[in-house]
Order: sequence, then C-alpha cells, then structure tokens
Amino acid sequence: MFGQKSARSLLESALKRGRLAHSYLFVGPKGVGKKTMAYAFIYHLFCATNFEKPCGECMACKKLKKRLHPDVMLISPEKRDIRIDTIRSIERFIRLRPLEAPYKVILIERAEKMNLEAGNALLKSLEEPPGYVIFILLTENLLKLLPTIISRSQVVRFHPLARETIKEYLFRRDLDESMAETLAELSSGSLGRALEMAEKGLLEELNAFVKAGESKNIERCFKIAERLSRLDKDSQELFLYLLTLWVWRSYLKAKVDISYPSAFPEETFKGDPAEALRILYKAKVALDFYVNPELTFYTLMLNLF
Ligand SMILES: [Zn+2]
Repeated sequence: MFGQKSARSLLESALKRGRLAHSYLFVGPKGVGKKTMAYAFIYHLFCATNFEKPCGECMACKKLKKRLHPDVMLISPEKRDIRIDTIRSIERFIRLRPLEAPYKVILIERAEKMNLEAGNALLKSLEEPPGYVIFILLTENLLKLLPTIISRSQVVRFHPLARETIKEYLFRRDLDESMAETLAELSSGSLGRALEMAEKGLLEELNAFVKAGESKNIERCFKIAERLSRLDKDSQELFLYLLTLWVWRSYLKAKVDISYPSAFPEETFKGDPAEALRILYKAKVALDFYVNPELTFYTLMLNLF
C-alpha cells in the first residue's frame, strides 16, 4: 500500500490496542486509497492465522480476496443514490452474529449518496450496534453527510498522494518514465485517476485526437471519435479533462514558457483558449445529456481545430 501514513497508523494502533470504534468514516478525495485501506483493515480483522500481517492463505484471506466473505457487506450507490431499502438490508445483516469472522463489517462506498431517508435509517443502526459490528463509510464529501452520522463515527482523513508516490507506483507497473511522470503530474494526487488514464490509454487517445484534428482528415477524425464513443462515461469525462489541460498547458507554455508535460502531444493548441474552454464545456454538457457521443466528439474535433 502507498502513502496515507496517518490513516494507517491510526487504524493500526486501534487494532493493536484492541480498541475499535464501531464506525469509521474515511474522508478524502477520489482515488487516494480509501477502499484499499478499508480492505487492508478488514484483512487484519479477519485473518485467522496472523493478526499483525494477514497471511493471504487462510480461508478468511482467500474469501476476502474473492470478495466473497459472508461477514462483509459492501454497499455502493446504484445509479444515483443509496436508498432506504439498501439500508434496511443492513439492519437484517447485523441482526445475526458473524458466521466465520470475529466481526461483521459493513463497507459503504460513497456514503454521501445516501438520501435523507436512508441516512436517518442508518443512524438507527449506528446508535447501538451489536459489539461484533463495524461500519466503514467512505466519502469524498463530509459536508454532504448528516452531522449525526459524523459525530457517531471516528473520522479518518485521507490526503492527495504526492506526485512522486504516484510516479513510482506507475513506473513499477511498467509504464515508461515520461508517461509515468506526465500521468502523475496530471492526476492531482489521485492514484485512481492516474491508473484509469493509464489503463484506458487516455494519453495515447489525446495524442491521436490532436493529430487527427490537426490533419483535418475527415475519415481519420471520425475514426477517433468513434473510438472515444466506446469508452465508458467516466473515461469520456476524464478525456475531456485531459483535453482541457492540454489547451490550458499549451497556453501557459506560449505565454510564460512553463514546462509542458512530456507525454502531451508535440503540437500545442494555437487557438483562443477561452473559446476552446467554451467548446469543451458544450461537449461535456452534450455527453451529460446523452447526445450521441460519436457525434459529440466529432463536432468537438471540428470546432477545436
Ligand atoms: Zn489469513
């Protein structure tokens, strides 16, 4: 595991002293290791053979690895929010003692997505849970949670990761140095974001997009637009973010000769950046409203170049 020393030491010392809170609230930006840390914590709680360092071999470790442990309940928002029916299923889950582990853990991702009804229902479970129950709530936005949920939980803070930490991680995953450096620089401290850009090849897509746009070759432009339309929506948004950065960094490079990410396209953006940002914004809105993505990317390319 990378970084997040203060969060880790807080949890480790609770484990060592055997003084666990019945609810933890992990707060921090997207992609900085909240869920990874939650699972590391559960491994420590459940590993039958080695409490200090999970063995990876016992039944508990194996089931956790496959995400099939009967004493862990993972909750994430379906579509837009987390609803009361889901929270009610927690009530049923915690009523019975654990089947195999010493604890039952309820891990709630994006806890801020609970609507008011769901939040209030969760409060009831948080009030006096059986001793074997541990809640772990993950959120990017503390302000969107009910204050009473916060006050009943131990808050554990997560921070953006250092650029060097992300670069080192990417480098170890066999990315070449210039790519690792650029992704780390563009990730704003989120390893999750850097990894997604790497796995989906978004930097390569950016390079291809710019080359095709500059060529003004219709067939080539359409091919790229078609490829981008097949990405999932999060990646499409991330691509637009990269494109925005490219416009912005091109402008800075021309104006103040600031360093320009090494894996960015050789060609810099030459047009009016304010106009480009308007065009990009329009594309984002179009995608949000499910306008045909292929057409959206194609139009975006024609308008930018
Ligand atoms: Zn184990």
